[in-house]
Amino acid sequence: MSPFNANVPVPADAAARRAVKPVVCYPVESLKAPDMGILERARATMEKVGEVIVPPREGSTFEVPKGHFFRIVSVEGPQVGDLNLWNANDLSERFFSGKTRALHATHVTTGNRLWSNLPSLRPMATISHDTLGWYGFDEFGGGVHDVIGTRCDPYTNRLLSGGDYHHCCHSNLCRALSQYKGIDIKAAEPHVHDVLNVFMCTGFTRDTQQYFMKASPVRPGDFLEMFAEIDLLGALSACPGGDCSTSHSSDAAKCYPLKVEIYRPDMSLLADWPFPERNGYQLQV
Ligand SMILES: [Zn+2]
Repeated sequence: MSPFNANVPVPADAAARRAVKPVVCYPVESLKAPDMGILERARATMEKVGEVIVPPREGSTFEVPKGHFFRIVSVEGPQVGDLNLWNANDLSERFFSGKTRALHATHVTTGNRLWSNLPSLRPMATISHDTLGWYGFDEFGGGVHDVIGTRCDPYTNRLLSGGDYHHCCHSNLCRALSQYKGIDIKAAEPHVHDVLNVFMCTGFTRDTQQYFMKASPVRPGDFLEMFAEIDLLGALSACPGGDCSTSHSSDAAKCYPLKVEIYRPDMSLLADWPFPERNGYQLQV
């Protein structure tokens, strides 16, 4: 439903109020950009040290030591992935999709960073390569790798469809974390958070501003690569929506696995890399 409400009077200066020019909420000029030259030199030396396959409609965890890279790779067919990231040594520090969106944009690509929640608020990962970087925004306003969606979950599914489905991304991420930590799924659930929607093509409809999805442009061989700014624990779900062209939260869509690859570069090339500390602000009583 549009916020426009015909039942309230329109003020005489409505047009003038609407014509006020917007300003960017968080000007990024004050945000020190990562030195991509250093990352490029490090990338040139990196060697694969690990690999995890995420089965279709399931989730898997993976670890990435600070200073390493990881890739989420499309294999076999177009598939969307829902990504959670935690500080590997402290689950209370985790990816903050809302602030990442506010600092960068609705969709992220090379050079953007994935920020952690308050009070840490520091870059957890820096996107170092995106083979879908050519996509930009299409005629519908759609882009890839969004930080506007949340993750498909069984509660919303029950709300909207009345049915129960146990392989939503939320469920997959909960199961993966619970298995990794050896804890009950109910204990894992509060740690699961809003995701980076890897490879998903989304936007807001022009007329009603509703969240939309369309078939992902990802093809086997495409990858999104990130540099770990801190020791990371990741969890990735191969969304039951497959390429998210039609539906999710069901077994209807064709789904494919996703692959996560871990790479170690020549660490001496990162001697000058400013690995981030937690945010220094101290909350006052
Ligand atoms: Zn999903």
